[in-house]
Amino acid sequence: MRRRRGSTPLPQGEGSAREARAGEGVILAIAIDAPLRRLFDYQAPAGVEAAALRPGTRTWVPFGRRRVVGVIIECRDTSSIPSAKLRNAHAPIDPEPTFDPGLLELLRWSADYYRHPVGEVIAAAMPAALRQGTAVTPEETLWRLTTFGREQALEQLGKRAVRLRSLITALHETAEATAQTLADATGNGSDVLRTLEARGYVERFIQAATRTEDLSHGAVRPAPTLNDAQRHAVTSVCESLGRFATWLLHGVTGSGKTEVYLQAIAEVLGRGQQALVLVPEIALTPQLIARFRDRFDAPLAIVHSGLSDGERLTAWRDARSGAARIVIGTRSAIFAPLAKPGLIVIDEEHDVSFKQQEGFRYSARDLAIVRAQRLGIPIVLGSATPSLESLARTRRQPETLLLLPQRAADAQPPRLSLIDLRKHAGAQGIATPALLAMRRHLDAGNQVLLFLNRRGYAPVLFCPSCGWSAHCARCDAHVTVHRGSSDLLCHHCGTQQRAIEKCPTCSELVKPVGQGTERIEETIEQLFPGSPLARIDRDSMRRKGELEATLARIDSNEIRILVGTQMLTKGHHFPNVTLVVVLNADQGLFSTDFRASERLAQTIVQVAGRAGRAERAGEVLIQTEYPDHPLLTLLLHGGYDAFAAGALQEREQSGWPPYTRIALLRAEATQRDAPRRFLEAAVSAARELSVRGVKLLGPAPAPMERRAGRHRAQLLLHAATHQPLQRLLGVWIPALEALPEARHVRWSIDVDPAELF
Ligand SMILES: [Zn+2]
Ligand SMILES: [Zn+2]
Repeated sequence: MRRRRGSTPLPQGEGSAREARAGEGVILAIAIDAPLRRLFDYQAPAGVEAAALRPGTRTWVPFGRRRVVGVIIECRDTSSIPSAKLRNAHAPIDPEPTFDPGLLELLRWSADYYRHPVGEVIAAAMPAALRQGTAVTPEETLWRLTTFGREQALEQLGKRAVRLRSLITALHETAEATAQTLADATGNGSDVLRTLEARGYVERFIQAATRTEDLSHGAVRPAPTLNDAQRHAVTSVCESLGRFATWLLHGVTGSGKTEVYLQAIAEVLGRGQQALVLVPEIALTPQLIARFRDRFDAPLAIVHSGLSDGERLTAWRDARSGAARIVIGTRSAIFAPLAKPGLIVIDEEHDVSFKQQEGFRYSARDLAIVRAQRLGIPIVLGSATPSLESLARTRRQPETLLLLPQRAADAQPPRLSLIDLRKHAGAQGIATPALLAMRRHLDAGNQVLLFLNRRGYAPVLFCPSCGWSAHCARCDAHVTVHRGSSDLLCHHCGTQQRAIEKCPTCSELVKPVGQGTERIEETIEQLFPGSPLARIDRDSMRRKGELEATLARIDSNEIRILVGTQMLTKGHHFPNVTLVVVLNADQGLFSTDFRASERLAQTIVQVAGRAGRAERAGEVLIQTEYPDHPLLTLLLHGGYDAFAAGALQEREQSGWPPYTRIALLRAEATQRDAPRRFLEAAVSAARELSVRGVKLLGPAPAPMERRAGRHRAQLLLHAATHQPLQRLLGVWIPALEALPEARHVRWSIDVDPAELF
């Protein structure tokens, strides 16, 4: 499938002067990967045609004392910088723009909306190899006969020059070839080619090699029959192909959302178009990828953080050329170039990982909607527990809601009940009713899943005599005890401390308090010695392939008990699990973050959804010290829908998103008072700008005031709609950059923050 195009002769020394001077006098506004919210002006390189300097084209430019890759954003006639001071850009790296106009505009829009330096935004959309100047189209050096060589070489070369003649003969047959191909065919290396080159018989040239599109058809293997709700969903999405539409596919766990994606994508491929699928975490969803591979005999590009630079570049190229029919990736794949986009799918759209939490703080889900709108194509947001943002949208546009109420193959929904931890004794965080239920389900030959969103052995190391506990030296947080390691680990900054046996204050013995997944594993192994157990969290699944291997052992029923964190809730199918125990539902019930209850409800429903996916009905036990908490009551009696309705009403009454817009200005510094001083100056600066319609709340210390040795504070911006907020940010941020107090802090702006810390 390799086709070649665009042959460029190697420079032939001084003699190759070119006439075209169209670029001269033109100013290039260039985006550079630097933390500055601006473009940089350069003179267009001399002798380069204007057509080679289109927006989106990468070019080398001098920047300070370095030479860096920049991306042309605009060509202008004038610059505010005197022309004598303007430096010259070098020649473009590629003959074509790296970014098509649509993608470039999306990137500029994103930089503007999230108030992030455009150069960094564009850099984030490129694989590392492109940031470092690798050509978009891979180049290779080819050899061919010169006219002279074609006509004269075999006559002039003596009969005994066997090696030279064999190469000439080979080139007569193939017209052009790489040195490697010629070596394979004749057994002669490039030293012989250079001899021929010196005599003028052969020449080399550089050619762009690219895998080109074959968009005619990707074979689709037979698909299962859909139920009525699935069919309605597929039909609705397919009828909207070719125009913008936002669909929310709200399907209870196990209702067959993936099958809807697959059949809609089959239609997209049939039209010769590509599909972009975003998932929370590739490494955690091997089963989903396997289903795509099983169904489609079409090339996939899979983009995730585990790729090497080379693999990442190949995936990017295949997406851009159209060679990859389906592009599946995590958050950053929203910026994948697409030759013929037809559909965007966001699986598990509620997942917090779609929001980048540092640097360029974008929401891939929100940008996906913007991108679909700009492309004029539909987008499907799928979830069993949709975000309140997406649910609020379907309240305004009820026709965009696609419901899958049934579990596929008539599987029964799980039964939820609460265990009051205040009334029941237990062993190490597992109450007696839960232990009895475990025994019952294991005896029936089924699997049991224990969920606890806390890795490690114990969250606190405590002295019972004097009340001392082990803290991180750099954070306002306890350090976590890890079994089998002699260290105490801070989960917030990664700092390790030596474990101790005796209290540093009173010298009595200290003890671990509370439970992490490691301790649950230890307890369960003692109580159920005959039932093989697998612990699934970031510590136990560190090695590549470990998760797949463990999932296979679960699938074969070799593993009987699963203990794990959030990792267990993401997309896996455990058809033999009939009991789920949520060991501690109380983390998140009383958080200061307005989204905490939404997250908790989503987690409980997602983990509950792992139970009883086959013909066996599942049982879900939720351990809590607050059995009367309204959130738990709503979830228990009305499910996620009832919870979401209550939560939306509360958000509307208290003025939180999705009914309002917020942004967060964060500041941190090693100096204790610097963040507050900066934020106070920021408040004054905002007052002077007198933009109406934005409330400033704060400054206030961050919920964890000190983290990794830095003091942190924040200021919340609150507005009824996004226009006044954006208007303020547009004039306020330049003012913040100029504040003297800004020199003593690291600050960042987070538009539509996912978490308030
Ligand atoms: Zn003590
Ligand atoms: Zn720490």
